[in-house]
Amino acid sequence: MASREFIYEKFADYYSNSSLNVPQPTLMGQREFGFLLLKERAMVRHKSFMEIKDLRRFLSENVPSDVYHSCAYYENPSFEMDKKGWLGADLVFDIDADHIPTLCNKIHDEWTCGKCGFAGKGITPETCPVCGGVKFDTKTWPCELCLNSAKEETVKLVDMLEKDFGFASKEIRVFFSGHRGYHVQVEAEAVRMLDAMARKEIVDYVSGLGLALLEEQASEKTVTGRRRRRGSGSFSLHDFGWNKRLKAGMRKFILNATKDDLRAVGIRSYALLQNKDAVLSRCLEEGRWDSVKGVSVETWRRIARHVKELESAKIDTVVTTDLHRLIRMDGTLHGKTGLLKKEFPAERLTSFDPFVEAVAFKEGTAKVSISDAPEFRLSGKVFGPYRNEVAELPTAAAVLLICKGRAEVV
Ligand SMILES: [Zn+2]
Ligand SMILES: [Zn+2]
Repeated sequence: MASREFIYEKFADYYSNSSLNVPQPTLMGQREFGFLLLKERAMVRHKSFMEIKDLRRFLSENVPSDVYHSCAYYENPSFEMDKKGWLGADLVFDIDADHIPTLCNKIHDEWTCGKCGFAGKGITPETCPVCGGVKFDTKTWPCELCLNSAKEETVKLVDMLEKDFGFASKEIRVFFSGHRGYHVQVEAEAVRMLDAMARKEIVDYVSGLGLALLEEQASEKTVTGRRRRRGSGSFSLHDFGWNKRLKAGMRKFILNATKDDLRAVGIRSYALLQNKDAVLSRCLEEGRWDSVKGVSVETWRRIARHVKELESAKIDTVVTTDLHRLIRMDGTLHGKTGLLKKEFPAERLTSFDPFVEAVAFKEGTAKVSISDAPEFRLSGKVFGPYRNEVAELPTAAAVLLICKGRAEVV
């Protein structure tokens, strides 16, 4: 109870002092707003605001734990769903560590079966190993490795949006989500009217879903075996889009490949390693895929599949295709961390540091009793790991631990 009171107080402070920093969303008057209220623990939806000052006042008076707005634009954003009058929507992407395999293997996460109470650490299983239940309570953690993986996926996505789809970098907005990932939002006129099917096509493209390339071309070649005998059956990857990405990825794979790497993708002949130069120039550049002895078309397929996995961007696919999605608002606090959703220029993706730049609470300390927390870093200081101890921490660290259910105020 004291902990909830503490969080309420801190969030209220933030919104009464800093709500001027909450930036105005594009075409604000056409968006639906939603709030999770801290005190009432209730979701309020279908709100609309004509002016940013009204929204800022709402934030400081109502103190939500989470603030959302629609990606969609409506004629009447405060009406019921089917009476809103959809006018279009931004193209949004959600990259969340939950959907990405990470180096940490998520050992910092905990899950408890909602049916029998069996608990474990790491990635939440599909079904409970004891009772077969499918509902779990999870305790996650925004770890550096998780966020770095999410960032790598975001880099790939932004690169595709710029180079393959041709969006200008100023049309692509990039945000730290405030928790375990990044949001990418395209607000260009060209995407506004895309329907769910068209958005699904874009999702498939960035995830590399249904990418045929080598598979198709190779089978075509066996059918027309005559072309192969004449030596004119060559095909090559051209220099645009996925073709280019595959080609560059395959080159990189071959240049660095070891026997272990080959085995890992299911290739048992090491001929490729002894003839790297010939493989690169004849097969990859000229497209004569089976021109090096011991390197078969099947070898290339395996490499292509592996490279596709590496080069595709792992996004949460349902977010992009939902035409009515509510997404967290820029400049507001995340109820699970007390960190900010924060926009930054796409060029700064590699250097952006969420554990410094998204910190909202910069003053004061609080004494907390911590049950369990991994080591973490905030505003340049390292904390923890903690286990059953009391500590006096800077406000931001205390808020994070309390929001994550790892500590209580003393
Ligand atoms: Zn169970
Ligand atoms: Zn992690």
